[in-house]
Amino acid sequence: MERYYWNLSLAQAQGDACVMCGSEYRDSAIKRIPVGRDPATEAEVYACVTPCAAEIVAETDRMARELREAAGLDDDTDLGRDGEFGHLLRDLRVLVGTEALLAVTQDVPTLQFVLQMTAVHAETAMIRSRKLLARSQAGEG
Ligand SMILES: [Zn+2]
Repeated sequence: MERYYWNLSLAQAQGDACVMCGSEYRDSAIKRIPVGRDPATEAEVYACVTPCAAEIVAETDRMARELREAAGLDDDTDLGRDGEFGHLLRDLRVLVGTEALLAVTQDVPTLQFVLQMTAVHAETAMIRSRKLLARSQAGEG
């Protein structure tokens, strides 16, 4: 991923420690995934698969939601008049995040957690999509 992480310790900037919690990976069994880059060297930096990667996903979601609200994007379309469209986009973004996690996750408890998250957001995305589709079709008629 191309997100930059600032104010890193040397160990974090070299990919030897988690950019979120600071746990050192050397000689440890902590599973890590690449989450971005050090702005100075462009080196890949890492976070623990659990719980730090999920925290990054939640943080990114929160930032996207705040930005959408600040920009009034949820109100721009008739479909999004109650925020349903924005919630659908959020579900889809979470699914993109779970796809990235599923591609690298190897331990069973983490896999189960990510699969649960995938199931919940896939289901709500389906319900929201059908609701928005019905609403837009009703609007046409
Ligand atoms: Zn961590």
